[in-house]
Amino acid sequence: MLDRIRIVLVNTSHPGNIGATARAMKNMGLSDLCLVEPKLFPHRDADARASGADDILAGARIFASLEEALADCQLVVGTSARERHIPWPLVNPRELGAVSAQLLTSEAGAGSRIAVLFGREASGLTNDELHLCHQHVHIPTNPDFSSLNVAAAVQVISYEMRMALVEDQADEVPQWGTRWDIELADNAELEQMFTHLEETLVEIDFLDPSNPRQLMPRLRRLIQRAVPDKVEVNILRGILRKVGLYAGTKSR
Ligand code: SAH
Repeated sequence: MLDRIRIVLVNTSHPGNIGATARAMKNMGLSDLCLVEPKLFPHRDADARASGADDILAGARIFASLEEALADCQLVVGTSARERHIPWPLVNPRELGAVSAQLLTSEAGAGSRIAVLFGREASGLTNDELHLCHQHVHIPTNPDFSSLNVAAAVQVISYEMRMALVEDQADEVPQWGTRWDIELADNAELEQMFTHLEETLVEIDFLDPSNPRQLMPRLRRLIQRAVPDKVEVNILRGILRKVGLYAGTKSR
């Protein structure tokens, strides 16, 4: 299962860190290394720091864009040394291991690939890069000195992946909705939104009430997987109101 975990280094400046990453990965049994626009690679400093993990370096794939490196991954996770403006589902490395183990051992998720992104030495990942991710992972550190060397961060994540996937010590899977900036929508708000959604889908002839199939349950599952908050539900309802208005105009 460890071969399903991809380590993605974005725009790394120091080739020594790429070598140290390869070593950290091989120590823990990971092998899929992708480099997005590395400043200097291949480089003798990378070879020197890999010390024995040269097969991982030789197999590393280089991409011109992050999107290409992630195209075949089902779960994308971004690492971050500090809190960002818009909070995202945030886990610690142990929880990430548990989530990964659950995904990779599930029937539907067995063939999945998980990418973990690591940022630039000086500035980390950009907000746009972090917004490509399903969730973020922060390694709990001294708040006054929170930034690890990038290869050290890879070591911590790879270790937890090994513990969860190989050593079979998966913990409880965390739920979204914790550490959030806005109160979660309650059941009544969600139900009103689903009623509104269903009415709109009927109005625009997407849902046939005489043959509804599994459309609503599937949409419910999709939306509820995200554990929407009050503002998100309001945005969805605003969109539905507009759709209703336009549909009304057209049919007249
Ligand atoms: N000054 C940068 C830190 C970059 S450290 C910043 O403020 O974002 C380089 C990379 O190492 C980060 O992009 C991240 O991928 C990883 N990293 C360092 N410390 C981390 C931590 N405490 N938790 C998670 N990832 C961390």
